[in-house]
Amino acid sequence: MQVKQILGEKGRMVVTLNGQATLTEAARLLAEKRVGAVVVEKAAGGLGGIISERDLVRALAEDGAAALQRPVNAYMTARVTTCTETDTAEALMEVMTRGRFRHVPVLDGAGKLCGVVSIGDVVKAHIAETAQEAASLRRYIHETG
Ligand code: AMP
Repeated sequence: MQVKQILGEKGRMVVTLNGQATLTEAARLLAEKRVGAVVVEKAAGGLGGIISERDLVRALAEDGAAALQRPVNAYMTARVTTCTETDTAEALMEVMTRGRFRHVPVLDGAGKLCGVVSIGDVVKAHIAETAQEAASLRRYIHETG
């Protein structure tokens, strides 16, 4: 299954915020939108980084409550791995496993953000595909047996 099919099902909403926003604002956004990561946009537009629940935990562990007033760009990951709509769920699973992250922003042909795929989306797509394969195999065995 390709990323474009995953986005077709889940939608193309991307939760973003500005790098100057505080960690408190990021935490509120993560909770309110019920997502695990937020894409950070550059002031001039474009992908500036990504900040996830894991970065928040690390920030609090390292800097305590003071981290909450600091800007998101002090804790985000600036070098973001992205994908395109023609990448497959299987390929993304490998990228996420190898990179040890659970979110991948999707860029369109013009390099613009057009969605985010999480590990949950990828696993769901993989399970659906596996179930479909099993059903066609059962049908084949039934029809030819
Ligand atoms: P996650 O598993 O998505 O909560 O992220 C774990 C760590 O990887 C955090 O430090 C994130 O900022 C970082 N991260 C998340 N997604 C990506 C990505 N697509 N590319 C690079 N780093 C990422």
